[in-house]
Amino acid sequence: MEGLEGDEDATAVDRLLRWFAREGADLPWRRTRDRYAVLVAETQLQSTQVARVVPYYVAFMGRWPTPADLAAAPLGEVLARWQGLGFPRRARNLQRAAALVAEHGWPPAGRLTDLPGVGPYTAAAIRCFADGEDVLPRDVNADRVVARRFPRGWPGAPGRGWEAGQAVMDLGRTWCTARAPRCDSGCPMREGCPAAAAGTVAAVTPPRRAQGRYAGSMRQRRGALLRELATSGSVSARRDAEAADSLVADGLAGRRGGRLVPAGAGR
Ligand code: SF4
Repeated sequence: MEGLEGDEDATAVDRLLRWFAREGADLPWRRTRDRYAVLVAETQLQSTQVARVVPYYVAFMGRWPTPADLAAAPLGEVLARWQGLGFPRRARNLQRAAALVAEHGWPPAGRLTDLPGVGPYTAAAIRCFADGEDVLPRDVNADRVVARRFPRGWPGAPGRGWEAGQAVMDLGRTWCTARAPRCDSGCPMREGCPAAAAGTVAAVTPPRRAQGRYAGSMRQRRGALLRELATSGSVSARRDAEAADSLVADGLAGRRGGRLVPAGAGR
């Protein structure tokens, strides 16, 4: 019985891969197997939608195509070009990671999480999307697809880890969505889907991580200061002293007298 179920899961993965070959999205980070490019893309994609990331990724890679290029850039410029993506700590950690790679080379696959800002998901994404390992990067979308379609666990896709990882991402974004899963005949894994057959799709959906309100939050206030910094070159720290202090403490801005200045330019 277990063997039969394993065969069914492998067949479902085959169908998913055929669907991806036909309908997979053409995204710029899918045209490379470079670890740095994958790291840039995955860092930008954290909490930001694919369509929004594309122009940022293209511009970022055009400006800083290698870890050494990014390591040598002024942090203020990196943060300025990150404006609009949100979560500027990601940019700072990305630059720190690039500096370590430029100086020491990449850590072995099992120690990618030693790099700043690289957690288990991003490490798995580098192993899958750059190194081609059969490792499924498990973000909230992949977790949802696996919970619904493969309750016995992800069966793997030997030799096709890259395609499988990308296909799961696409399916989770377009068909097997959190709020409006399209469990009709257009879903390439509808046949034999345990959750769809049992009518338990919503029940087996892992809960989304709660995110606090943005309006009025410290994140919004810090973002407002960073935006002004990027356009004006300096901004009065009195505008929002608490947010200014927090940006300086995080190394995302410097201070000159009573003004906030780009990171690295303060004293
Ligand atoms: S049938 Fe529904 S629950 Fe199953 S994989 Fe497709 S979209 Fe997801």
